[in-house]
Amino acid sequence: MLSKVLKTFSSRTPFRQMSSGPSTEPNFLEMVNMYFDKAAKHTDIKPEVLELIKTCDTVLRVTLPLKKDDGSIKYYKAYRAQHSHHRLPCKGGTRYALDVDLNEVEALSFLMTLKCACVNLPFGGGKGGITVDPKTLSLGERERLTRRYALELSKKGFLSPAADVPGPDLGTGELEMAWMMDTYKSLNPTNLNAVACTTGKPLEMGGIPGRAESTGLGLYYALREFLRDKKYTDKVELPTGINGKKVIVQGFGNVGYWACHFLQKDGAKILGVIEPSGSVFNENGIDVDDLKAFMIQHKTLKGYPKAELVENGQEVFTRKTDIIIPAAVERSVHGSNAPNFNCKILAEGANGPTTPLGEEALEKKGVLVLPDLLMNAGGVTVSFFEYVKNLGHIKPGLLTKRWQGKRNRSIIEAIATLKGISHEELEAKSADWKKLAEGASELDLVYSGLEQIMSEAVQETKETSERLGVNLRIAAYVNSLQRIDDATLKGTIGL
Ligand code: NAD
Repeated sequence: MLSKVLKTFSSRTPFRQMSSGPSTEPNFLEMVNMYFDKAAKHTDIKPEVLELIKTCDTVLRVTLPLKKDDGSIKYYKAYRAQHSHHRLPCKGGTRYALDVDLNEVEALSFLMTLKCACVNLPFGGGKGGITVDPKTLSLGERERLTRRYALELSKKGFLSPAADVPGPDLGTGELEMAWMMDTYKSLNPTNLNAVACTTGKPLEMGGIPGRAESTGLGLYYALREFLRDKKYTDKVELPTGINGKKVIVQGFGNVGYWACHFLQKDGAKILGVIEPSGSVFNENGIDVDDLKAFMIQHKTLKGYPKAELVENGQEVFTRKTDIIIPAAVERSVHGSNAPNFNCKILAEGANGPTTPLGEEALEKKGVLVLPDLLMNAGGVTVSFFEYVKNLGHIKPGLLTKRWQGKRNRSIIEAIATLKGISHEELEAKSADWKKLAEGASELDLVYSGLEQIMSEAVQETKETSERLGVNLRIAAYVNSLQRIDDATLKGTIGL
């Protein structure tokens, strides 16, 4: 059925060739629009409001001049899209890559609006980037280009704690976020909240612990919720729990590595890792921390001695496993490769990794697809914690940490007295109980907040999916749409 719709669609629409996936399938923006339209049918939101939610609100396209180290001048195209202002500020990453264009940032900002609503964060969606291969820039060139980008964004209302708060994405990281924040701060020296204009900053510049691993950890928490539910594990004929589950991951960068790290820690076995520089497979499992250390040292997975090298990464997708995590690029699971997958669960780490034809093929095989909107929302969730910390001008938990520690200590001592344990005996076991008596650290609070938000969102998505009889992706979209409709949008346009 879907294949037929897509055939008609593709004869009308010239699809842009994206970084992966066949050109005959919808591009990223078209995919998000298709899922949106499908979900909208399950809501009673007025068509005028749906149109407003769907439309990208504001976009910026600028050309950035850069003086290269050799004195020559080069020009780069740069973009930022603010998809929705129903909640402010807009929030979303900054991508430096050769295929960055307006279509891509618009699609990604749309997904950010939906993702923030899906996990109930008070942000509109945004996304930006520069069409550049960051590897071709020296450190100085990267800084000059980033600062010029931040200047243009600031001048035009696309960078500020109140309106638009970029974070890192592909090709950018802590340094870019620090440079952008510093540029904004020097332009707005009296803005007390200037540090909150970006997230993903280094710790010493207002960042928050746990941001690096947040997306992979969030994926782990969400996957664990699904695997705890016998209704879902029965559907795919797997025992409950993470322990013993076999996993293949595509993309061993930030999201892929951290997701595997936490899954492995909880007893899962990582069988295969797919990377452009070479893929590896070992049916007895690969130690992902060991593999990451190898990759950092050698810049490739080729030559890793403890697993078989598989030249064709697509072939690893077809090997038998319980879970596949696409955590690399959009549209990597599509109508041509998905029919050959041999897994029970697809947990989307990347944004938009599965095309509609890919999803249709997987569902036909009974594979449970866990959607990006929900599964990779951990990154923006911890960014929200960083933003709140910056606005509050205080570390989370600082006011209560010592009080909590003292209270825990008195409870332990009271129990010890009741049990007739002497102070000396308690002191002898101090290594065990002193840990218990400590108040929560900033990292403890970040992990706990993330776990709470991911678990709630999984629960809500499952409930909607069961109530409407739709798959989890459509359920996640429905929840997001409902939340955006319920927010200030109705009031804003008087509908
Ligand atoms: P990253 O650059 O850290 O890692 C990406 C990895 O994928 C790299 O190791 C790269 O070599 C590999 N890769 C690229 N193309 C590939 C291909 N065709 N096949 C196999 N491997 C390939 O990026 P990341 O931050 O891990 O992001 C990965 C995906 O997750 C992107 O879609 C991104 O938008 C999404 N995402 C990231 C975050 C975050 O917090 N980092 C949050 C939400 C979503």
